[in-house]
Amino acid sequence: MVRLNEIRENEVAVEAPDPVDAHLTYIGRIKTPWTSRMETPRQGRHDGPVCEIEIFEPWVAALKGVERFERLEILYWLDQSRRDLVLQSPASNGEVHGTFSIRSPVRPNPIGTSIVLLDRIEGNRLFVRGFDCLDGTPLLDLKPDRSLFKPIAPPQPGDFETAPRAHCVKA
Ligand code: SAM
Repeated sequence: MVRLNEIRENEVAVEAPDPVDAHLTYIGRIKTPWTSRMETPRQGRHDGPVCEIEIFEPWVAALKGVERFERLEILYWLDQSRRDLVLQSPASNGEVHGTFSIRSPVRPNPIGTSIVLLDRIEGNRLFVRGFDCLDGTPLLDLKPDRSLFKPIAPPQPGDFETAPRAHCVKA
């Protein structure tokens, strides 16, 4: 079941501190076909509907060069999420998972990320596939998919540092 703002069996909410604003700037808005969380995909798909990213001024000039990348990483603010759950039950069956072990929109800082396929750019509007957010979701950032991006700045020493692989700690 999609969550609106209800608490489910065995879920745990905490008294969340008042958010300290990180002074993020909404640089645009995402336009999608979905107006209800009951219909929005859980994760976007690259064969999903074409959606639109509108970039606000004065940030439009920052799109220079974006057209070179087939895939973009998009960060957005899941503005209708509650922010106080530490244990969540995505299946609403009493089984709970820690917030940081799942990709639920309900998190202390409700940042969503998607890798989208760029279809085209028209002025301040990008047309992409791969979203899973509501129409009107605020845009935080966009950047090339890291697997397509080669740093333009010269390398620095940390780029060559290696270390033995740490063991994964399992609960
Ligand atoms: N792909 C992102 C990620 O992994 O970080 C988001 C995944 S999250 C599971 C996607 C769900 O968030 C949607 O199915 C919808 O229920 C919810 N959602 C979408 N837009 C939202 C918004 N603006 N505010 C709150 N919830 C939203």
